[in-house]
Amino acid sequence: MRNLLPWREPVPPDGTMGEPGTRGRFGEYGGRYAPESLVEACREVDQTFREAWADPGFRGDLARLLALHAGRPTPLTPARRLSEELGVQLYLKREDLTHTGSHKINNVLGQALLATRMGRRRLIAETGAGQHGVATATAAALLGLEATVFMGERDIERQALNVFRMRMLGAEVIPVITGSRTLKDATSEAMRHWVGATGDSHYCVGSVIGPDPYPWMVREFQRVIGDEARGQFAAELRTGVPDHVVACVGGGSNAAGTFAGFADTPARLVGVEAEGGAGAARGRLGVLHGCRSLFLQDDDGQITQAHSIAAGLDYPGVGPEHAHLRDLGRARYVTVTDDEAVGAAVRLARTEGIVPALESAHALAWVIRAAGGGELPSGSTVLMTLSGRGDKDVSTLKELL
Ligand SMILES: *Cc1c(COP(=O)(O)O)cnc(C)c1O
Repeated sequence: MRNLLPWREPVPPDGTMGEPGTRGRFGEYGGRYAPESLVEACREVDQTFREAWADPGFRGDLARLLALHAGRPTPLTPARRLSEELGVQLYLKREDLTHTGSHKINNVLGQALLATRMGRRRLIAETGAGQHGVATATAAALLGLEATVFMGERDIERQALNVFRMRMLGAEVIPVITGSRTLKDATSEAMRHWVGATGDSHYCVGSVIGPDPYPWMVREFQRVIGDEARGQFAAELRTGVPDHVVACVGGGSNAAGTFAGFADTPARLVGVEAEGGAGAARGRLGVLHGCRSLFLQDDDGQITQAHSIAAGLDYPGVGPEHAHLRDLGRARYVTVTDDEAVGAAVRLARTEGIVPALESAHALAWVIRAAGGGELPSGSTVLMTLSGRGDKDVSTLKELL
């Protein structure tokens, strides 16, 4: 018998996960903290995106690219053997099955089309795990654009396969040797580079971070995950919406896109962060990379380094809308350790035949822990976004297993 959970979570007031408020605010977060030349460029991105998003022609072009090149819609797969072991009904939204192997392609195809609409010839991007860089290089090749990708030197070492893929696709990969030599520093460098290149280049931000309109725009490009999953779940189970909707959170784009499909339902939303990169769970108010949000900081307000085995979660902050959802109590943010994530990756491989990205394994690690600890009552339905596939992580895993 399925234990129906009492719906304790309030259904949000209209407008949660709608458009941000004036000046790109989500509650007290968001905004557009950038040098004057970038403020102007952001204004143009904002205006072009608003027009494009209201234009059925643009929507049609994007839908076609997503279907013909990215392999959408992705399946919603019941994890049968693992569900049985855990005593819950777990469904996986399979972003690992998209072309290039993660949800990043959804956002990038949208922004690449937008760049074309603005007459830009080149995409600038930052990347951590390399998935956003690979997606950007792919979209650029597909639409006949150039791509310049900034990547921390440490991530270049960890993600050699993706570095090669980007170069194979014709992108220029620029190593970033400042700071922790990971995603935060790559993002800073990419923004700095954009200042001198706004005339011919579009900065293709890879997550729901950065100055307005990026957090909102990237969420809208990723909401295809949540919208598809909602329809697929309703078709699968007559109860309509899952009890829990779970996704991993780096900057927060796969989670935001997933949550957006369920924001107006009673589903409980859970974002899972890396223990060492828990911006939403442990961050404090600050400004970085153009927006006001929650960031890991020391006592002097300096942004501290994140540490995660998953390069895509190795970011010391979280997108402004997640900070707002946390304050509203609409979404909950939890953390898991590197070890838990590795354990979850192995477990998924051996029960379902899926090797997940280490980022996605974080979301699963929480599901496993919560099912064991009673937080997920027996029989409850869980929809989890499997944000990417694990091929890029085999060299990391090989050293541990
Ligand atoms: C980049 C990445 C993430 C983290 O980014 P979000 O913006 O938080 O979604 C998670 N999983 C995979 C597979 C990634 O490539």
